[in-house]
Amino acid sequence: MRIATLALLAFFVPSAAAGQGLSAADVWQAGKPAKELFGGMKAAAPVAARAIGTYAKGCLSGALALPVEGPTWQAMRLSRNRNWGHPELIAYLERLANKVPQVAGWPGLLVGDLAQPRGGPMLSGHASHQLGLDADVWLTPMPSLLIPRAEREEFPPQLMVRRDRKDIDPAAWTPTHWRVIKAAAEDPIVERVLVNAAIKKALCRDAQDDRGWLQKVRPIYGHDYHMHIRIRCPKDSPECQPQEPVVPGDGCGKELDWWFTDAVLYPPPAPLDAPKPKPKPPLTMADLPQSCRQVLLAK
Ligand SMILES: [Zn+2]
Repeated sequence: MRIATLALLAFFVPSAAAGQGLSAADVWQAGKPAKELFGGMKAAAPVAARAIGTYAKGCLSGALALPVEGPTWQAMRLSRNRNWGHPELIAYLERLANKVPQVAGWPGLLVGDLAQPRGGPMLSGHASHQLGLDADVWLTPMPSLLIPRAEREEFPPQLMVRRDRKDIDPAAWTPTHWRVIKAAAEDPIVERVLVNAAIKKALCRDAQDDRGWLQKVRPIYGHDYHMHIRIRCPKDSPECQPQEPVVPGDGCGKELDWWFTDAVLYPPPAPLDAPKPKPKPPLTMADLPQSCRQVLLAK
């Protein structure tokens, strides 16, 4: 039995390594977590670029890989193989990275996770990032020297938020940070930029007369060392389901207060005898749009 399993693996692994699609039998297997299928893909679906589904239940064909380094960026944590995105996201990131030396004097950007080669749910981290339209960009300036690829696995990001979580850390935050976030948000294809509420508070305080871009920058938990950039559904992707538009206004002032209440910053621990919340069952192919099966099968 063990030998038979090994023989099967020997048969399947080289085809996955070559980036070829799965077999119909694999994809049709009811109940199998979709993250196991998408998490195993090594290369893009070699068909037209399409973002399919919603940001947290979808997939991606025709992805491009962000080159692991360019003149003004370096991709981080390369072993995760998550530097893939819709061509519009890749073009956007290169555009943004090229602006950064001029707007902020940084040598460039450190880029974290985008999506897997065929998007979809991931084996670890991130509920979204499934369509190839989301990118995590660090708030640590790129060093002017190339970080060796192996070191990019461990290279520590700089935390931007103070220990008490009520504001940014003045030792980390500089005026260049809001300029980079402004440049990221101003691009017309960007729908949202998600940052820690303390960072949003700092942006509200630091932004000068031109404040329209603040509307796209929304507070969220975590995100204390990177911004999460989300671009809109591309025109080539009729099955991409857009999110609700961001609410009007700059989102500053009283709207932010809730994020700094004790209930949010220091939630009381659940009583020991409280029933444990059931973990959500993982997404299966039945939860994703039908077309995502074709994305896995494409060779
Ligand atoms: Zn993210």
